[in-house]
Amino acid sequence: MTAEIAKFTTEQMIDMVGLFSPCMDDYLYVCDFKEDYYQISPRAVNRFLLPSDHFHEVEKVHKQFVYPEDLDMLLVELELLGQGKKTFHNLHYRWIGHDREPIWINCRGRVLNDPDGTPHYLVGCINEIGAKQKADNVSGLLGEFSLGIYYANYVPNLPDGFLLRLGLDEFRDINESHGNEYGDYILRKTAQCIERNIRSGQKLFRIVADEFAVVDFVGGTIEDARELYRNIKLSILDFIEENKYKAVYTVSGGIVDNRCIEDSYESAMKMSEFALGQAKKQGKNSCHVFDAKEYETYLKGRQLLRVLHHAVNHDFEGFEVYFQPLVGASDGRLSGAEALLRFHGENDRMVSPGEFIPILEESGLIIPVGRWALRQAVDACKEWQKYLPEFKVNVNLSYVQVLKSRVLSDIKGIIEEFGVRPSSVCIELTESGYLEESMHFDKVWNGLKDYGILLALDDFGTGYSNLHCLSDLQPAYIKMDRSFMVKALSREYEYRLLVHTVDMAHSLGLHVCMEGIETKEELAKAREAEPDYIQGFLFGRPCSRAEFNRKFFGEETA
Ligand code: C2E
Ligand code: MG
Ligand code: MG
Repeated sequence: MTAEIAKFTTEQMIDMVGLFSPCMDDYLYVCDFKEDYYQISPRAVNRFLLPSDHFHEVEKVHKQFVYPEDLDMLLVELELLGQGKKTFHNLHYRWIGHDREPIWINCRGRVLNDPDGTPHYLVGCINEIGAKQKADNVSGLLGEFSLGIYYANYVPNLPDGFLLRLGLDEFRDINESHGNEYGDYILRKTAQCIERNIRSGQKLFRIVADEFAVVDFVGGTIEDARELYRNIKLSILDFIEENKYKAVYTVSGGIVDNRCIEDSYESAMKMSEFALGQAKKQGKNSCHVFDAKEYETYLKGRQLLRVLHHAVNHDFEGFEVYFQPLVGASDGRLSGAEALLRFHGENDRMVSPGEFIPILEESGLIIPVGRWALRQAVDACKEWQKYLPEFKVNVNLSYVQVLKSRVLSDIKGIIEEFGVRPSSVCIELTESGYLEESMHFDKVWNGLKDYGILLALDDFGTGYSNLHCLSDLQPAYIKMDRSFMVKALSREYEYRLLVHTVDMAHSLGLHVCMEGIETKEELAKAREAEPDYIQGFLFGRPCSRAEFNRKFFGEETA
């Protein structure tokens, strides 16, 4: 294609950019090769790291706002255009936004020549290819971008009302079993079910893939929002029936009172996402009203996760392994210790395991932390075996480690590294994982057993306490949980249950450890049931390695 001859002057073309720019979302530009000058729609300055909407030294200035990896490609292209070797420009690449993140653009343009055939201008248009759609043709609704604009008209003073965020519960299954086109049909129909129920003044948008938002800026109450949610569910049920049950699905809802939304559209989105997430966590097909306290706890958890992450990446700074003695039930002699994780958080606040262990598990950080804790425990065990050769260390293992890491080779590796006998280490696991993931769990359990490691079923007496689990797994120990012990030591029925459990465990060849013995009276009663080991504050609270050393091996180490 040969280039057109320029019919306008530079000034006229710059005027045209100014004239059309306010009428479009895209950015118009003129690049004058001869004057080495560039002019773009003024709005582009707000979006990209441009020094100005017009500048000289085109190549040099482009280096400031073109994503570095794409720069060479652009410079080659500009050279070809400037030399007349190319007359049409159509390039997908990235510019840099004010947050320093790349923004994908499509830049198209045509070369206009001077009458002598030399290239003079490149004129064209830039559009953001990754930009959020304003409207969504699948559902026929306005999209997330428009929702942002709608909010922007009101913040910071949102009128009374609510935001109801709805999410399909099984959309992926629908797409997978019926195809994406059918998935689109379901989205469209769901949008209609919602639309049918909203009242005048309320507005409906489609946000991310399978979520919708109903915005009420007309004084709707939380009760109105709940009722709306219920009615939408009924409409969806009607549709499913009309549709002959081809796809059966449910929706969950997250409701936020506008008065909770502080200052921005972003906070409205985050809060509603949280509320919807809670509804899904509670079993889906229900709605959940945003609760500021709950959200604060969640945010604190996020903050704690950041701190934990930092600690893991800084040589486990802040983590510590405490040790609590395990003693023989009949003679009270030390036989070993349970290793228990501790974490010193921000401002050296001691965070309780009940708080940080679930976060480590959810995030997967329990994998490196658990491995680290095991090394500390085995290291201490090796030291204490100098004084007490039969000393054993008990280490808790989380299901996340069992399911998502090479826990068997990790444990073997650590035992070999320190050169202790495998039977010096007792791994504590709870039975819940056995019930949920029996195949994989069995593999790890049997692998550890074959290697000679001792296994203990922790928290026995809570949850299922499945007796068939005991004969199946044949652990070396069962550990009776403190919560069960407290009941057993004060109530006759549970006490009889305790006595029978110990008898049965013994008849299967298992040892029993009773946890949580705090007083002499508790000890006397617990002993009557004839357990093998006792662990409790009466014999020692969990303490640091140095303190444990002092307390139990003080004479030898002195
Ligand atoms: P667990 O494995 O059942 O550990 C026993 C818990 O009972 C410990 O709580 C211990 O301090 C507490 N305890 C022992 N004797 C008494 C007593 O006489 N009275 C009272 N009131 N409590 C007693 P801790 O250290 O807070 O640990 C809680 C749980 O956190 C542990 O329960 C275990 O499930 C988990 N955990 C601790 N460390 C680790 C670890 O390294 N890895 C994993 N995966 N979980 C761990
Ligand atoms: Mg334990
Ligand atoms: Mg326990």
